[in-house]
This record gives sequence, C-alpha cells and structure tokens, in this order.
Amino acid sequence: MNSELHTHGHHPSTAYLRPRRAISEPPRARRAASSLLLLALPLLALLPLAGCSSHPAPEGADRHSGSAAATATEPRSLVLISLDGFRWDQLDFPEATNLRALAESGVRADGLIPVFPTKTFPNHYSIVTGLYAQNHGIVSNNMRDPELGEFRLSDRDAVTDPRWWGGEPVWVTAASAGLTTAAMFWPGTEAEIRVGRPTHWSPFDSDVPFSDRVQQVLDWLALDPDRRPRFITLYFEQPDGTNHRHGPESAQAHATIADVDARIGELLRGLDELGARQRTDLVIVSDHGMAEIHSERVVVLEDLAEFEEGELFESGALVQIFPRPGREDLLFDRLEGAHPNLRVYRREELPPSFHMAGSKRIAPIVAVPDVGWEAVRRSQKERMPDGPLGGHHGPDPRDPRMHGLFVASGPSFVAGARPGRFENVHIYELLCRILEIPPAPNDGDPGALSSILAPRASNPRARSAALERSRP
Ligand code: AMP
Ligand code: ZN
Ligand code: ZN
Repeated sequence: MNSELHTHGHHPSTAYLRPRRAISEPPRARRAASSLLLLALPLLALLPLAGCSSHPAPEGADRHSGSAAATATEPRSLVLISLDGFRWDQLDFPEATNLRALAESGVRADGLIPVFPTKTFPNHYSIVTGLYAQNHGIVSNNMRDPELGEFRLSDRDAVTDPRWWGGEPVWVTAASAGLTTAAMFWPGTEAEIRVGRPTHWSPFDSDVPFSDRVQQVLDWLALDPDRRPRFITLYFEQPDGTNHRHGPESAQAHATIADVDARIGELLRGLDELGARQRTDLVIVSDHGMAEIHSERVVVLEDLAEFEEGELFESGALVQIFPRPGREDLLFDRLEGAHPNLRVYRREELPPSFHMAGSKRIAPIVAVPDVGWEAVRRSQKERMPDGPLGGHHGPDPRDPRMHGLFVASGPSFVAGARPGRFENVHIYELLCRILEIPPAPNDGDPGALSSILAPRASNPRARSAALERSRP
C-alpha cells in the first residue's frame, strides 16, 4: 500500500468516521453507461442525460424555474471548471471577453499558485483535495512507487487504480454528505477512491468536443432538483496544448483563448436559458501557467554526468533520476552545481516550499531547471530546432509564469472580491464551504478565502451546523 499516504502525521486517513454511502454503480454497469453517454452526446439535446438515468427529466423540466421564489429555495449547484495551462495573465488577452466579464463582476484572483511540481495531475488533484502532492500521492504526471510500479497519464490501468490516489477529493466528501456529483472529466474521477467515483463520470477522452462537454454539464443542471448534481467538474485540455506548442504569447495562444472563452460563453448562455444563473456557482481555475522556452536555454544532461550511473526517468521541465544501487552519491556530486540554471536535490532535501521532501514516489535525485529552461538528453536536444520552442511548465511554483487562473461567480460569492494571489490548496476548503459539507483534513487554510464568500441568506442554520461539524 502507499504507506506514505497513510502515515503522514497531519492526514490520518482513518479520520473518516462519518457515515459513507456508495456513490458509484458497479464499475461494469457504470462503464457501459458512461460510454453510452458519450456515444449519445449528439442526442443529448433530445434526451436529457441519456445513459445516466432510468427516467429522463420531463420535457422542459426546470426550464421555467428561474423566478426568484423558485431559485431562492432550490439547492445550488457548484461547477468547478479547469482550463488546463491557462496562465493568470491570459485573462487580459482581448479575446477573453466572457471570462473577463465574469471576473470583473465576480471574483478575480491576481494568480493561483500551484503546488510543486507545476504539472497537470498533481495540481488538479491538489485543487480537489486541498493537499500538497506528497500528501495526496500524485507527485508528478510520471512517477514510480516502490510497490505499485509506474504511473503515466496515458496508462489507463494506473490512472484508474485507486491505490495511487490518496486524500479525499471533494466529490467523495460531497457523496459522504449525501450529495449527487458529476464529472465531465477531471484527474482522479476515473478511479474508485474510498467510497467510489462521482455519481456520473466517464473515462477521459480528448476526442469529446468541448461544446459537447458544456452541453453535458447543462443537461445535468437541467435535471429536477432531487437528481441534479450539486457538484460538477468540467475539464478542457486547452490552452495547455497550444501554449506548449506555440508559446503562451503566440497568435495561436490568442486564438485558443478565444475558443475556450467561447465555450464559457456557451455555458453562460445555457445557464440563462435554464434560468439557473442564480442557483449555480462557477469556480474557474487552471492547474498551472506556462513559460516560453528557447533553444538557447537548454541544459544537455549528458554534458553534466554519465547516465549509465542512473536512469533518467523524466526530463524536460522536471528531471527525475533513479541512480543505480550504490551510485547515488557519485551522481549527485557530479550534477550538483554543474550548471547555473539547474538546481539538483536529493529528494529528502527538496526545498520546504515544494512540500515534497517526504515522498517515496519522487525519484531519489530531482533536478529542477530554472523556469524557462529545459534539461534534456542530447538526443532530444539534437531533434530541437533553433529558436523558440513553445512553452513548458513543471518547475518552481513560486515563479509568476507558473501561476494559474482563478475566477469565481455566482450567488455564493462577493461581487467584486479581489483575493490577490493564493495557493491552490485553499480551494478544497472553499468548495466544501459552498457545498456546506464538512471537509476532510487538508493542507488548506479554512479562512484563506473567507473574504470572497457572501453571507448565506438562505438556511443560515444549516450553514453554521456544517461549519460547526468541520471544526477540528
Ligand atoms: P501536461 O503534460 O502536464 O501538460 O498534461 C496535460 C495533458 O493531460 C492534457 O493534454 C490531457 O491530454 C492530459 N489529461 C488531462 N486529464 C486527463 C485524464 N483524466 N486522463 C489522462 N490524461 C489526461
Ligand atoms: Zn496542465
Ligand atoms: Zn502542459
């Protein structure tokens, strides 16, 4: 078992004595249902939630419930949206009109500080657990565990294996409190963590068009209140792809920002058609930012050390090295200080700000290039063109180029709140407060984002009871 996850002092995994209920259908039935769901996406306009429910919502259900009286008493839904790799300052691109309008009238952070390493999987899972990567166990997109073997994003068996996923993601916390949840993709939602997967989920499939993802979320939000998910995720793998390929300031990046912004526009229009704006909270985040890379800023690792002494498990924006037995000191001594733009650490000596020193899943030697510098094999360098190389992320989370997006809007938020720049581990507490559910132990500060939350007019008793239960 992933013992590091179960022995960490601040996160006793046995602290979950609250009643639990299963949230997933049996895996096989669920898989069939979810693939049906995706196949049926083009039909969803005709069949609300095909494949997810035995009796479709009545025609027009909820479509006329936008009156103040109806929305005041209806439960709110919370939609957590990730625009992968959206750097905080891309919000000021002229193309980001819908996002900026939401931010201006709602909550806008100056930037969202990711966890180390500034990679996709660790950060998506920190956002939904409130844990630093060493405490939730997803320490990089690529990792190796002494017992579990290797984890890679593209490896379905690894991504769906719950033994990799520690901590408690918010959909599990919500399910434990009896809430229905749904995921239009999110790292972790494909594994049966603790009590299961989200009520509705499907395997990650980059071929599902972004507009179909938005439509699926709208279909969930159109359900009757008793079946409507209270917590929903929505994931887009852009602008990450374009930022990597062309750089975060490229004309192509501007076009991609226009595209994802248009999808947010579709969501907002759909919410208006449902009359659901007043009962829906939106939290829009990204997992990390992006820095420009260039052929003049590349470290060739073989120039520094012989890699027969160890295995280069990961390179580029983050270097993981597994030394051959007995060769760790030799390799470390060769690499340390060998290049001015590459910092080399034994895993036990990673900087405290990285919150990673305790992990057994990160390699014994970790080399972190300066942001904007790549560290690669000679063979990789030889394939690189001269000039700009696009963008990367992975190194030091403190560098503003690695900072992501945070925008929030909806009835639970203070219009015009400006919380500055904060770490993404605080978001789990925020989501739990909005959902009025007691959070699991986590690394976030429950008070960090209090200033952006509106006092709850409806049902203040439920709110204070929930907060009471959540006190340590
Ligand atoms: P990164 O290498 O950190 O830039 O990772 C970004 C990539 O992660 C995206 O291009 C997606 O294809 C991939 N990705 C996002 N979510 C998932 C998922 N649930 N399963 C597998 N891959 C994913
Ligand atoms: Zn990412
Ligand atoms: Zn990326």
